[in-house]
Formats: sequence, structure tokens, C-alpha cells
Amino acid sequence: MKLFIFALALLGSLPASAAEDYAVWQDKRFVIAYNPNGRPEGISDTEVIDALVHAAAVWSPCGVQVVFGGFTGQSLDRLDGRNVIGWQAELPGLMALTLPQYLRRILLDADIRLNRGLIRDRDTLRRVVAHEMGHALGLFNHSGEPDSLMNERQFQARGIDTPSKADLALCQARYRW
Ligand SMILES: [Zn+2]
Repeated sequence: MKLFIFALALLGSLPASAAEDYAVWQDKRFVIAYNPNGRPEGISDTEVIDALVHAAAVWSPCGVQVVFGGFTGQSLDRLDGRNVIGWQAELPGLMALTLPQYLRRILLDADIRLNRGLIRDRDTLRRVVAHEMGHALGLFNHSGEPDSLMNERQFQARGIDTPSKADLALCQARYRW
């Protein structure tokens, strides 16, 4: 899963190399609303909310608060400062895609797209949302550690839905100010 894409075209002032792997929500608060449009059969809206609540809980030791912002009809592809999680039909080869957009070291918008064709059960949803939340909070890169929630191959294979100590330490280092 390649889940991180720099949306550089929307932020013309950023360098093309996008060398910075370090951007944070400046008030240590990430509010994300849910757009249920396109939800696959077999997944309920309640399960999506539960997955968000789970992700908020497991990342809370990082020091950034994840808040459910309610339901929305807003689309996923805008740089509008409103974070949305929702379903997408076409994400070739990807379980999900998160598009964190930032200016210098300030995160501005991070929408989470879930692949409605590949996420078919509650446990997969829960793992994928927890993983994507790591990206949304500013962990852009994948981990090579086998026990990491941010290891793009291992977290699904091993059924990991909770950040490792190293994942949390990396996140905490960014939100410690
Ligand atoms: Zn990822």
C-alpha cells in the first residue's frame, strides 16, 4: 500500500522534493468528519465511527487529540481545512489513501479515502483507519519495523491495529512542545 501522496500541485510554494517529513496540527487537535456516501455493503456507519474512535484512542498517547466531527456531505478532494473520511470506488491497488497537505510544518488538511471495494469487514476497517490516522497526524513515511502499525505490509498481515511504542515515540516527538 502506498498511502501517502504529497498534494504539491495545490501548494505551489512547496519544493518539488518535499523533503520535509515533519508537519503537525498546530493546535494538537485533528477534527475529522465522515461522509458515508458510497459505503459498501457489509460495513455500517456505526462501524466507521467505532473505527475512528478506536484510532483516536490508540493514538491519544501521542499528544494530539482526534475528534469526530460528525457526518458531512463534503467531498474528499478539497484543500479546505475540513478533514473528511469517506469511501472511494477507484483506488487501484490501495486499501486507502490519505492526502496530508501542509505548508511548511503546519498540517492544513488530511482527507482519508477508503477503498470501498477492498474494505469488507470491521476488523480490516479498524486496522486501516488506525494506520491512515497515523499518516493524517503527520507520520508520512512507512516503518520498516515488523511490529509497527505504520509498516504498510505487516500491519494487515499481522492484524496490527495499534501503534507500537516506536510509532508513538515518533509521533510524541513531534507533538512535544
Ligand atoms: Zn500507509
